[in-house]
Amino acid sequence: MTLSTEHSELPALSPGASHRLLKHTFEGGGSELSAYIQAGLHADELPGMLVIQHLLNALVKLDNAGRIRGRIVVRPFANPIGLGQRVFGAHTGRFNLDHRSNRRRRMTSCRASTSTSAMRFARS
Ligand SMILES: [Zn+2]
Repeated sequence: MTLSTEHSELPALSPGASHRLLKHTFEGGGSELSAYIQAGLHADELPGMLVIQHLLNALVKLDNAGRIRGRIVVRPFANPIGLGQRVFGAHTGRFNLDHRSNRRRRMTSCRASTSTSAMRFARS
C-alpha cells in the first residue's frame, strides 16, 4: 500500500477559524508518470467531488492490489473555504467574496497533463 494522506493548514481568514486542504498521494513507483486530480475549485459544483470519491475507492483497490504506477495526487475538495460560503441560505463558493474574482480564472493551465490516459497508471 502506497497511499499517504496529508492535511495542509490554510491561512486563517479570521481569529479562531481554520481550514485545511486534504491530499491523498499514491506512490506506485516504476514510472515517471504523475497525475494531479482535484475537484471542487468552484465549491458550489458538487458533481466532481462526488465522482472523486468513487475514483478514490477505485484507486485504493488498485493500490491494495499493487497496481498503481507512478504518482497520483488526489485533492477531493480544492476549496474548503468556498465549501463554507453561504450567503442568505445560498451556497456560493465560485467567487472570492473579498473582491468577487472567479477562483477558476487564476489557475495556471494544466491542459498538457490532462490529456494523459488514466490507464497508463494502472498495471495490468
Ligand atoms: Zn467550475
